[in-house]
Amino acid sequence: MALCIRNGLTNRKEPFVPIKEGEVRMYVCGVTVYDDIHMGHARSMIVFDAVARYLRYLGYRVVHATNFTDVDDKIIARANERGIDPLELSAGYIEKYFRDAASLGVRMADMYPKASENIDCIIDMVREIVDRGFGYATPDGSVYFEVGKAENYGRLSHRRLEDMEPSGRIASDEQKRDPMDFAVWKAAKPGECSWPSPWGDGRPGWHIECSAMVRRHLGDKIDIHGGGNDLVFPHHENEILQTEAVTGDVMANYWMHNGMLQAKGEKMSKSLGNFFKVEEVAGRFDPQTIRFYFLNTHYSSPLAYGEEALSEAKSALSRLWNNYRDLVSYGKSGPASGDGAEAEAAAMEAEFREAMDDDFNTRAAIEAVMRLVKRTNRGMGDGSLSASGAAAAAAAMRRADEVLGILPPDGDGGDGLLDSVMEILIGLRGELRGRKMYDLADGIRDDLKKAGIALEDSSGGAKWKRT
Ligand SMILES: [Zn+2]
Repeated sequence: MALCIRNGLTNRKEPFVPIKEGEVRMYVCGVTVYDDIHMGHARSMIVFDAVARYLRYLGYRVVHATNFTDVDDKIIARANERGIDPLELSAGYIEKYFRDAASLGVRMADMYPKASENIDCIIDMVREIVDRGFGYATPDGSVYFEVGKAENYGRLSHRRLEDMEPSGRIASDEQKRDPMDFAVWKAAKPGECSWPSPWGDGRPGWHIECSAMVRRHLGDKIDIHGGGNDLVFPHHENEILQTEAVTGDVMANYWMHNGMLQAKGEKMSKSLGNFFKVEEVAGRFDPQTIRFYFLNTHYSSPLAYGEEALSEAKSALSRLWNNYRDLVSYGKSGPASGDGAEAEAAAMEAEFREAMDDDFNTRAAIEAVMRLVKRTNRGMGDGSLSASGAAAAAAAMRRADEVLGILPPDGDGGDGLLDSVMEILIGLRGELRGRKMYDLADGIRDDLKKAGIALEDSSGGAKWKRT
């Protein structure tokens, strides 16, 4: 089976065919940087990080872009409150974003375009929209996209323009012709940051930045466009209109949206005040736990946030880590003969791929890893598993983890430093017991226990795990 993606444009799972063979260009709408990011943002970041990682696992060359909206009403308002420049405010939060992303184990995207650094291409696109008859300037120097001129409005949100109009309204300070029209260029108000344009000083509307930056950095048409469910309407719908107005083609072939993280029955958001900052949660839970928590639910489903569920994820993960470490050390010290787990390891990788190929089903992918743990655990328990079989199983888990990012990092009981040190200590303790120096051997075991490591003696030698 090949990779299939549920496409928001058609609401169907479709086989993934890239525009250019072997390459995937993916754009994911990022954050408006006027405050710290919260767990709702973390979900989207982790989901699309896993998508990019899996595409790379499949061998695609991936160009992954995520933007920062660094000029908007909220940023300007907050900067004015603090008496600083809006771009200084957003730069500070961008810096924090990268620290938070690292605390989630999220790998860097290939580019992070910012609205403020792409004003020229945004102005070019606005001009083209006007020239092609899809936009109009107002006397105050704003430019609006005329929604009535576009065909296929609502193709992503699957709504009809006629059904939406009654709820539309025109704010008293706007000069647009129709309530559904939206600003692609906003005339500067006194005290706002602005850039010169053919229509006077102003700044970009929100939707236009994504259309313009995708076009400049990734091209007229891309493979995957992602973002949260809350962006389908109107943000992505309007992105499609803008791009189509100038290229005559749909902006992206596949549209993927992650489900909302909910708290107190509503979408977690800054404005509702029901949010948990990444910085705080990442202070209590390691990146792997947070990733496991999110990836254990399909990306498109809504998810109710709860610290209890995070604690449960932590316990489940700690069992997985212990099993993984057992496999690694058994792979070094287990019997040379016995059942090889090579077939099981290969089966797990096939199941893992099948799950991920099915619209990035990370939950089923994690289950595949867990099944391998169960199978090999039995073999380690009764000593029937061979060392090479255990090593093959651990290596297969490591490969799957290139996508999931839930196993301990190298050097922490993965196959690194801690493992080597424990091997030395276990060897030393065995030596002491052999010389009947039981008090010293027990002393090592007791001291390790105090440090949070339990030793268990078994027929295949001593094993260690974190308590
Ligand atoms: Zn966007």
